[in-house]
Amino acid sequence: MSVKVEDKLFLNRYRVDEESHLRIIDYTLCLKECPDQPCLYICPANVYKLDRDRISVSYEGCLECGSCRIGCPHFNIEWRFPQGGYGIRHKFG
Ligand code: SF4
Ligand code: SF4
Repeated sequence: MSVKVEDKLFLNRYRVDEESHLRIIDYTLCLKECPDQPCLYICPANVYKLDRDRISVSYEGCLECGSCRIGCPHFNIEWRFPQGGYGIRHKFG
């Protein structure tokens, strides 16, 4: 039986920090210099969404995989791990 990604993500647990560990540095650059906006497609957790011409960042669901950090062609995402004790906890089985 195949297991769907959604089923695997359901096993994850999060302790959410009040402060985001992800930040878009320059929203104007997203609009004017990044027509493909790859952050909307490369994140496995759909953290980045288009919200009325502006990229929103739902950092609470971040899997800390680092894809957006290297996938943004303009290095326009400030990325760090959540502070100690916060972020994702993986549960296997
Ligand atoms: S990939 Fe980078 S520059 Fe492009 S829209 Fe996303 S955050 Fe902005
Ligand atoms: S680190 Fe991975 S899961 Fe987190 S926002 Fe970036 S691409 Fe999405």
